[in-house]
Order: sequence, then C-alpha cells, then structure tokens
Amino acid sequence: MTPTPMKEGSAAVQARRVLVLNSGSSSVKYQLLDMNDRSRLAIGLVERIGEETSRLLHTPLTGGDAETRERTGRIADHAAALKAAAEELAADGLGLDSPELAAIGHRVVHGGLRFTRPTVITDEVLTEIERLVPVAPLHNPANITGIRTAQALRPDLPQVAVFDTAFHTTMPEYAARYAIDVETADAHRIRRYGFHGTSHAYVSRKAAELLGRTPEEVNVIVLHLGNGASASAVAAGRCVETSMGLTPLEGLVMGTRSGDIDPAVTFHLKRVAGMSTDEIDVLLNKKSGLLGLCGDNDMREIRRRIDEGDERAALAFDIYVHRLKKYIGAYSAVLGRVDAVVFTAGVGENSAPVREAAIAGLEELGLVVDAGLNAVRSGEPRLISPNYARVAVAVVPTDEELEIADQTFALVGRAESAGQEVPVGQVDN
Ligand code: ADP
Repeated sequence: MTPTPMKEGSAAVQARRVLVLNSGSSSVKYQLLDMNDRSRLAIGLVERIGEETSRLLHTPLTGGDAETRERTGRIADHAAALKAAAEELAADGLGLDSPELAAIGHRVVHGGLRFTRPTVITDEVLTEIERLVPVAPLHNPANITGIRTAQALRPDLPQVAVFDTAFHTTMPEYAARYAIDVETADAHRIRRYGFHGTSHAYVSRKAAELLGRTPEEVNVIVLHLGNGASASAVAAGRCVETSMGLTPLEGLVMGTRSGDIDPAVTFHLKRVAGMSTDEIDVLLNKKSGLLGLCGDNDMREIRRRIDEGDERAALAFDIYVHRLKKYIGAYSAVLGRVDAVVFTAGVGENSAPVREAAIAGLEELGLVVDAGLNAVRSGEPRLISPNYARVAVAVVPTDEELEIADQTFALVGRAESAGQEVPVGQVDN
C-alpha cells in the first residue's frame, strides 16, 4: 500500500494529504487524511443538500478535543456543499488550496466490468462512469456531480475513482451470470456486479492479519451488515461470490431493502396489486427489509422492542438472521474450506445478539461463538470464537474511507514515481 517515496526536494514531497469524498444524491461525506501516519485531520458531512434544512457537521481532529461545528440553512447544491466544507477546513488551517493536498479520492458506486482497480479520473473515465448510469441510476449521477465539483475546485489535482464494484470483478463467470437469456443479458449489461467492495477488500485483508496469515493463505466469509448489507466469499484474497447483484437490492435482508425475492413477486405487484414500476422500486428498496417487516430499521430499536416482548420485531429479527445463516452455509460450500467468518459495519460490529444468533447451530460447520468474547465492546479487530473452534469468528471494524485514501495515495504515488504526469489526469491504469 505504501507508495514509492517521491523525489527529494520536489514539491510533491510535501503533498501527503488525501481528501476522500463520498457524494450521495443529497449528501456529501468527507474526510481529510494525513498519509504520513494515515491519521484523520478532519471529518465532515453535508446533508439534505438542496433543502431549506441543509446541515453541515465538521469535526477537526488535529487538536485535543474533537469538537463538532454545525452550520444550518440551505446549501443549494453539491458545489455549495464542497465550498462550505472547504471553508470549514480552511478555518482549521487545512485549506484545500494547500500544496500538501496530494489527491482527492472519490467513492464511485458502479464501475461495471471495465474498472477493476482504482483509476485516475480523465475525461474518458468520466464518460465511462456516465455510461454506467443506466445500471446505477441512484448512485453514479451523484458520484459524477461530486467529481465535477471537486475538479472545478482543484483542476490541477489528481482525482481518483475507487469503485464499490471493483473487488468483485474477480468473481468467476458462473457466479456472476444470471441464468437468463445470454443475448438479452449482454445487450443490457445484466449480471451480478456486487457492491461494498471497498469494505469487503479491507475487512478480508484485516481478518487475515488478525489470524496472523497473509490474505493469500486464507478463505473468509465477510458479512457487511450496515443499513445496506452484503456477504462475500473471499478465497486467497480474491472475491469469488457476493450477495448483491445488478443492484444492491439482491441478497441479505437489509434495513429497508428486501434482499432475495422471487422475481415473480414484482409481476404480481404490477398485475394484481396494480402498482407501477416506480412504486415497486420504492417498495423493495425503501420500504422493505427490517423496516417493512416491523416498522424499524435500526437494530438497536428492534432489540429494545424484542426485550419488551414485541412479536413483530422478534419475527423481523428471525427473518434477518435466517437469511444470514443461509448465506454462511452457502458460502461455506462455495469456499470448501473456511478459515474465518467476519462481521463488520454498524450491525456486524455492534450487535452481539445478531452475531450470536447467526452462528448458533452451525457447530457442524466448525463455527462457535464464545459468549464472553462476543459481549466485549471494542473498536479493534477481535476474535469472538473460542480457541478450540475449527473456524475463527471475528469482528473487524470496516474503514472504507481509509481504504479509499490508501488506494488513492498508492496510485498517485506509483504514477508519480513512474514519471507520469498525474495532475492533468493522463494516467488510466
Ligand atoms: P450504512 O450502511 O448507512 O453505512 P452503518 O454501517 O453505519 O450504515 O450501519 C448502520 C446501522 O447499524 C444502523 O441502522 C443500526 O441498525 C446499526 N447499529 C449501529 N449501532 C448499533 C448498535 N450499537 N447496536 C446494534 N446495531 C447498531
């Protein structure tokens, strides 16, 4: 990950900061990192962009106490959001006009089959990301807006796209293809792409480290359980199967998404329930999953309700856990030998009851959770299986921003040390 050191005395020697941008349709999350020690200098979030109730939360992390500053009131668009964030950073002496800024790394949700690695953004790359809008209509347009806005702010700086799909491009064809007519599928680029790849890559590597092995030596199942949720099977460092498909709708039960469903349910909703395609889209993406099942999508609230004897919450929990078990079993079969099952993201890192219930009864697969270890709260990667267990069960906090910063900095560093002209975006690896 560490890039080759740059030439002594060149201006680039100073440039060891990376700004990470995650642009959503109505929000921008940002982090500024110092790549000397990979520490955070500041983190922030602009939400409800375009509404009267826009809000910016900015936390500088260079001083002793991390105190969050808040701005409220309409922030018209992404350009205004980034400008406001830049002002906050400048107020902390971390202005984006600084020569210390080496690059801006963007999270881009869909990279199709073309982008298998982080890529310096050229006009041609941006055109290709635009060409993928039909398969990622909810995500790529916001990512493109974020990129254009950042380019306008610092046209001289390398901008790097880090794709959510990239880690999954190693999936074998038999795992990536749907069993539908090949011509139709190919004409419309219908196949399984997978998402959350930056997290699956980071967490599977960290899990190998926790086991004291190299990524090439281990097979792991990663369960990324946030509001969106996905599983992946990683063999010797390469993704061989993942639960999300053409879109992030497939797979596990999520906060508001149904996950796996008989596709005929959609015909039924249209023909019998009289719903439009857009209404079905909203139903399955925004009103299903835990929210649709019990009215809450936050696992903390669901557990509180279960403790009070709420049956709908209990059933939602059971459906969520049942789907997880099915995937653990399926991916154990896909991998043949499993060295670790790893929990990550908001639910995976924090919910001991979900981890306990998902692993319960899987002793035949070599999986056991130690109740004491599972109850420990920690921000560190840790094992929650007993020593005697054949397969490790672990909790590994994800860090997608750090992974994006690492990949961005490594790419820019590699290109510079190879004498390539990075800032104008001529490098497309
Ligand atoms: P996102 O997918 O939006 O990035 P996160 O990975 O931050 O989401 O996960 C958010 C979810 O994590 C929340 O909706 C909630 O269900 C769950 N969560 C967060 N903290 C806890 C906790 N202490 N206990 C149980 N669940 C938690």
